[in-house]
Amino acid sequence: MDEVLVASDVGRRYGDTVALDGVSLTATTGEVLALVGPNGAGKTTLVRALTGTTDATGEVTLFGQSPRTVARDRIGLLPQSFAPHERLTARELLEYYAGLYDDTRDVEAVLDDVGLADTASTTYENLSGGQQRRTCVATALINDPDLLVLDEPTTGIDPAGRRDLWRLLEGLADRGVTILVTTHYMEEAQRLADRVGLLADGTLIALDSPDQLVAEHGGDSQLIVDGSFDEAAVSAIDYPAETALRNGRLVVYGIRPESIGNITEQLGQAGIEYDSLTWKQPDLEDVYLELTGTAVGQRGEPQQTEPVAGGAQ
Ligand code: ADP
Repeated sequence: MDEVLVASDVGRRYGDTVALDGVSLTATTGEVLALVGPNGAGKTTLVRALTGTTDATGEVTLFGQSPRTVARDRIGLLPQSFAPHERLTARELLEYYAGLYDDTRDVEAVLDDVGLADTASTTYENLSGGQQRRTCVATALINDPDLLVLDEPTTGIDPAGRRDLWRLLEGLADRGVTILVTTHYMEEAQRLADRVGLLADGTLIALDSPDQLVAEHGGDSQLIVDGSFDEAAVSAIDYPAETALRNGRLVVYGIRPESIGNITEQLGQAGIEYDSLTWKQPDLEDVYLELTGTAVGQRGEPQQTEPVAGGAQ
């Protein structure tokens, strides 16, 4: 497969802050590559370094050229802080951006692609959050890019809007567009990306398919029992797997769903009450926590948390 993007040992400092510390990665034609990490991990700086919008050390090529010399209509870039003119309609905005290029896609076709055909005459300020973000994505699509770079495209969008955008991006990737997307939503990366790069403090700590990352670092499935427990609850469970108290919750590792009844029976026999049970397979959140000791909150904030993913590995 053709390599669209090659980055070697990319670094960036702001004074004493090391925003990027020797990041190397590649992306191939039609691949969706997600860069994941909490706020401050270096996602935006990496996107800017990869697209030549900030100075960085190391080497980056896009389609075999420097980001600053590559034909600009080959790249579609949606910066995190992109805020178009609010009084223009979605259609007017697209027409405006189309005017910046010699050769573009048909405005109506792009509006249709992003699901805005029916709201194209609504001013940007009167669109919903999801429709606004899709309008922004549309401005990055108008030049029919071969590489689409989206910095946190779904932040602040409701779940339905997020799913619409995922479908749009999947369709583009199927048509051969390479997509580089940053996000702090782990489930988004897991669902959308062919490969996920985990960033922590400016370092790329892992880069692989979501399934491979989970298989290597996610640990065992977990039964999480919510309630107020002490060590007696841990010893009450005679299950042939590790049971532990984590952040006040009881966690039973490596348990299959059909054995959950066995656990509740044992808790009942020991007279231990609980509030709720959750069974989960390991996911990218567990991987990130396992590799960094940090969880990523819903707003992208880093949270120092006792690892839950460890389990019997
Ligand atoms: P993310 O996109 O993952 O939230 P950023 O790339 O924005 O992370 O930031 C990475 C680090 O670089 C942070 O410590 C941030 O404070 C710092 N940083 C980013 N941009 C600047 C800047 N213009 N000046 C100084 N520090 C910056």
